[in-house]
Amino acid sequence: MGFRDIKGQDRAINILKRAISNDHVSHSYLFYGPDGVGKKGVAISFAMALNCVEYNDDACGLCTPCRKIVAGIHPDVTILHEESGEIKIGAIRDVINGMVYKPLEARKRVIIVNEAERFNLSSSNAFLKTLEEPPAETVIILISSSPDMLLQTILSRCQKVAFNQVSPQIITDILIEKLGLEQGQAEFVSYMADGSPGKAISLSSEDIQQIRVEILNGLFIKGNSNKIAAFDLSEKYAKDEGYFYNMLFWILTCLRDIMILKENGNTELIINKDMNNALSKVKDRVSMERVLDTMGLVKSVYKGQDRNMNRQLALDVLGNKITEGI
Ligand SMILES: [Zn+2]
Repeated sequence: MGFRDIKGQDRAINILKRAISNDHVSHSYLFYGPDGVGKKGVAISFAMALNCVEYNDDACGLCTPCRKIVAGIHPDVTILHEESGEIKIGAIRDVINGMVYKPLEARKRVIIVNEAERFNLSSSNAFLKTLEEPPAETVIILISSSPDMLLQTILSRCQKVAFNQVSPQIITDILIEKLGLEQGQAEFVSYMADGSPGKAISLSSEDIQQIRVEILNGLFIKGNSNKIAAFDLSEKYAKDEGYFYNMLFWILTCLRDIMILKENGNTELIINKDMNNALSKVKDRVSMERVLDTMGLVKSVYKGQDRNMNRQLALDVLGNKITEGI
C-alpha cells in the first residue's frame, strides 16, 4: 500500500508529498470529499510516508514502520472509527491523553479520525483543545464527507485537502484490476457509482448483483404473469433497509433504461446493458406516461422512508404497479 495504490486523487496526494519534501507538514488536516474516494487510504499512506525509513516520493511498504502501519499495529498510528453513532468523549480520551508523551517509535505520530462529523459536542471540544495546542511530532487527520457538520472552530485549525469524485474510466480500471471484472461489467458498475470507487466495489458484490438480476427478471421481464414473484421480492427485501434501498435503486435504473429506449433507442446509454433485449421488449408494451408515473412513485417511496413508511407495503404497491404494465 502507498500513494501509488490510490487512483484519481493526484491533486490531494501532491499537496501531501510537497508538504513532506518542503518539510512543511501541518499539525492537523481535514480530508474532505465524497464517501469511498480514497480519503482513508491516502491518510494511511501519508502516515506511512511520514514514517517510512526508505521514503522516496512514496512509502516503500516493506520497512518495519510501513508494515506495522498497514497491519494496524503501529503504537503511534491510531485510526479512530466508531462502528455507529456519535464519537463520544470516552473513545478519544485515551488518544488525547497519550499525546502528552513522545511517540514510542514513530518520527511522526499520526491520529486519523474517520467520519469526524460524528464527533459529539463534548468530544469536539476536547479535540479542539488538542488542535489549539498541538503536541510536537503529531499529525492529526480528520476525515469527513460532511465537513459542514464540524465545528467552525475545528475547521479553521485544519489544513483542508479536497478529494474529488473519481472518473468512470479510472473506476472501471480499478474494478478490472482489483476484482477481475470484465470490461463491460466494470463499465456498467462504474457508471452508477457516483464517482466513488468504494461504492463501485460494494455494488459489484455478488449479493447486490443478485438483487439486480432478481428484480429485473421478477418485476420487469416476466410482467403480468409474475405478481406472486413481485410479492415474494418485496417480502424478501423489505426486511433490511440496505436491501430495500438497493431494490428501489435497481427499479429506478430499469425505469430510466426503458425511458431512454423509448426516447431514442440508444442502447449505449442504458445502465442494464446485459438486459438490453428484454428491456427493449418491455418498452414496446408500456407508455412513457406510465413509466414517468412509476418513477414518481419510486421517488415518493424513497421520501416516505423518512416518515417510517411500512417498507413491505410500499414495495407491494410498487411491485403490483410495475407487473401490471409499469
Ligand atoms: Zn517503508
